Amino acid sequence: MDELRLDGNAAAGPLGEVFSFEVTTAEYACRGCGRAGRLGEAMVYDVRDLGIIIRCPGCDYALIRLAPNRDRYLVDLGGTSYLTTG
Ligand SMILES: [Zn+2]
Repeated sequence: MDELRLDGNAAAGPLGEVFSFEVTTAEYACRGCGRAGRLGEAMVYDVRDLGIIIRCPGCDYALIRLAPNRDRYLVDLGGTSYLTTG
């Protein structure tokens, strides 16, 4: 799989298509380890042609998955206990 690791600010573009709040300052809590932080500080993996995966910098758990699907996005927030607006 061809993937590119980026910092959390790289999520601003794709997630900005879905959410109307400032994504990089939005706060999350990780279901994997309980860590809370800002999405802008998380790790973003851009998987070519499949979308992005945002991973917890504490435990590498997949916090958010976002995949383009025709003219829509599929967003999986299952790795987060919560997500607050930025
Ligand atoms: Zn974690």
